Amino acid sequence: MPRDYYEVLGVEKSATPEEIKKAYRSLAKKYHPDVSTEPKEVAEAKFKEISEAYEVLSDPEKRNLYDQYGFDGVKQQFGEGGFTWDNFTRADDISDIFGDLFGSMFGGGMRSSRSRNSPQQGDSLRYDVEITLKDVLEGKKVKLDVPHAVICEDCKGTGGKNGNVTTCSKCGGTGQVQMVRRTPFGNMVSVSDCPDCRGKGKTSSEKCPRCHGNGRLTVDSHIDLNVPKGIDEGMRIRVPGAGNAGYNGGPAGDLFVVVHVKEDKNYERDGANLWAEVTTTYPRLVLGGEETVTAIDGDKVALTIPAGTQVGTVLRIPGKGLPRMNSSSRGDMMIRVFMDVPKKVSEEEKELLKKLDTDAGKGAKKGRKKLF
Ligand SMILES: [Zn+2]
Ligand SMILES: [Zn+2]
Repeated sequence: MPRDYYEVLGVEKSATPEEIKKAYRSLAKKYHPDVSTEPKEVAEAKFKEISEAYEVLSDPEKRNLYDQYGFDGVKQQFGEGGFTWDNFTRADDISDIFGDLFGSMFGGGMRSSRSRNSPQQGDSLRYDVEITLKDVLEGKKVKLDVPHAVICEDCKGTGGKNGNVTTCSKCGGTGQVQMVRRTPFGNMVSVSDCPDCRGKGKTSSEKCPRCHGNGRLTVDSHIDLNVPKGIDEGMRIRVPGAGNAGYNGGPAGDLFVVVHVKEDKNYERDGANLWAEVTTTYPRLVLGGEETVTAIDGDKVALTIPAGTQVGTVLRIPGKGLPRMNSSSRGDMMIRVFMDVPKKVSEEEKELLKKLDTDAGKGAKKGRKKLF
């Protein structure tokens, strides 16, 4: 019984396709037999193990089967002896790291690219939204119009007028053509997309007027998104299937909405805590007093200034910060105290202030050098 695929790649069951790819790439760098410090057989076995896990988890359909039925669900995807390099279709995902070494290593058994005619998942898309700090407090329903590629309905994605297409005569329907180049090292065969059908394997005498023969159209899709309260700056919300349409009947990609929180002029965010400022008077700092502050939820909260409060002191109002995600608790409001120094004072105030202006008021400690 092989090890659990998620465990092999060291990712959570909820990992996104990007996280899975990242994990596989970093493990591949470690275990590739050409770079691993372990004995070749050990490294090859490990490399095969992570590649098998990646083959399953990187494919939404296989991953789904594995999630539901475990190894039994994906067994029939591979041959009788289990996973071999012939089953590996994701070499492209790491070819930029290892280049040609990779293809040559296991007797060339690995396919370096997937056939253009096989179903492929569409691209995932990213969309950025901006919300306010108040939205973080309450959660927000956001309406998005996201441009993405869909299959043209008029031609059912074929690109031919009324869906009429014929098999491409140049490539015989494979979508690919081989080119043989003579080089000093022998004949090199390269495979590229068929120029006549652009890799589709089908051509049409008349193009679909709606999509101009592309088979795909870019349209805005309306999406109602619930942004949960307490969301952090930069968090991503996944909308499955809202990305670009797949190819050859493959599933659509996902949409990832990245949430940004606008800076607020009154509050600064520190996790679930909110920082704010209050300005009070000299007598209230000395004798103690009260100020009213406005919390993010609009509540007017009485803030007690204890006697002898220094400028810069931070006072805390519990539970008046932001909600924590997946929790009913809220952070605190942290209030830094400042003093209002009046620019204009009356004659009477002047006299009073002069009386207060004694060295005793400076709180000079014994031995501290007087500067003024
Ligand atoms: Zn069309
Ligand atoms: Zn062709």
